[in-house]
Amino acid sequence: MIAPDPEKSRQSEGGTARRPLSKERQVAVFRRDGWVCCWCKRPMIFAPVMKLLEREIRAAGNGDPLAYYHAHWTRHSAPLLDLLGAVIDHIEAFSAGGTEHIDNLATACNKCNGRKSADGVDKWDKRPKEKPIKGRYGEPQNWDGFSSLFVMLAQRDATTLTANERGWLRALQSA
Ligand SMILES: [Zn+2]
Repeated sequence: MIAPDPEKSRQSEGGTARRPLSKERQVAVFRRDGWVCCWCKRPMIFAPVMKLLEREIRAAGNGDPLAYYHAHWTRHSAPLLDLLGAVIDHIEAFSAGGTEHIDNLATACNKCNGRKSADGVDKWDKRPKEKPIKGRYGEPQNWDGFSSLFVMLAQRDATTLTANERGWLRALQSA
């Protein structure tokens, strides 16, 4: 049994390969949007930080089960990411011809993004939106999704980082 080729499964009907967005571009979108979901306006969490937080707690000797990080962002094993994990959303769907240009990309929380994909864009547009959060004392100004915390924890022990995490560290430091 041959494992599915992730590149092939990402091909649109037109046959154009859809490459994963670079981490640099994703970070640029998150920063432009202030790490706030474009649909519900909730503050997002940069998911890789949760894994490093878990690492810190383990390193401090705590072996209790923790629901901080799970690769699949399940509500069962990573409730914060299930709700607030930051993802990149295509305003016009890629399958409908939407581009990967930064103007067609927006920051979304995992919850809104999941509902949007499940409903399809047409249905999503018609359904009542998640009631946007409004700040009584104004909108968040300096929220960074815990990305600074990620940089700090990643630098603390760079030898244990995965290639993916090193890529995020580079992307966060490059701007
Ligand atoms: Zn949202």
